Amino acid sequence: MTRLLFNTESIRDFAIQENEISFYRNLVKRSPLDILMAKASSKRDDYWGKVITYSKKVFVPLTNMCRDSCSYCTFVKHPDHPEAKIMSPEEVLLSAQMGEKKGCKELLFSLGEKPEKKYVKPKKALEALGYNSMTDYLHDMCKMVIEKTFLLPHVNAGTLSEYELKKLKNVSASMGMMLETTSKRLNKIGEAHYACPDKVPIQRIRTLVAAGCSKVPFTTGILIGIGETFDERIEALLLIEKINNRYGHIQEVIIQNFQRKPDIAMAKHPEPTLNDMLETIALARIILSPSISIQAPPQSREGTY
Ligand code: SF4
Repeated sequence: MTRLLFNTESIRDFAIQENEISFYRNLVKRSPLDILMAKASSKRDDYWGKVITYSKKVFVPLTNMCRDSCSYCTFVKHPDHPEAKIMSPEEVLLSAQMGEKKGCKELLFSLGEKPEKKYVKPKKALEALGYNSMTDYLHDMCKMVIEKTFLLPHVNAGTLSEYELKKLKNVSASMGMMLETTSKRLNKIGEAHYACPDKVPIQRIRTLVAAGCSKVPFTTGILIGIGETFDERIEALLLIEKINNRYGHIQEVIIQNFQRKPDIAMAKHPEPTLNDMLETIALARIILSPSISIQAPPQSREGTY
């Protein structure tokens, strides 16, 4: 039985079957956590040894405005908020140069999803900078970073079309977008992704596939604890693996945990437990190709994994 019904032929190729999910559901059910983790560690060690890789990067939030409104977001600012902004080229360059001085090798452009398509203020702010779209502005900021520093731009711009991916590929070393979840339920009213056009799973899956078609080295990941079921987590991991099997472009998968904050809509939503996190990271290592690095952001939880 097909769980996800994709509406285009090429995306339908990646649909995950119920029996694929039940295989991993049963594996987790019958394996104590330490056995599951040992299995994952052994797969990791066979490929990577004991090496943990990282790259120092400077974070540049090109805009904190966004047309989506995820219930857990702490980054976004409504255009009417006094802190809502688009960074100027001078601010971008200053951040890049400061990062360079601190020994960074990469610059991570992070930004909300196409705020100019929903709000007048970001549209006008972009026009004042001489642009019609955030993607075009981002392109030129990447180009500036390459021309004026030794940093490698990494672009984290959310959902992108194949045309946008190809354009940005010319001025970046790699790109990324969290798949987050395959759950369409979470787009319903009262759920984490209500009123988020870019969090409809099919849109994110399209971007993952388009990045593969465009041969863009890509980072993706899942966000756990936002209302998804365990089966939906398995489905998301299997989907990433299936897309990577076709295109070989996924270099890293992030397993990120939802964190409660007082000023978000999900302030009272329970956080995933440490066991939950360990189980999901181990499962990711077991499901995904060994060449895909797994990152579990250490800053996302007190203590260590
Ligand atoms: S897409 Fe969601 S999480 Fe990302 S910036 Fe927009 S509101 Fe925040």
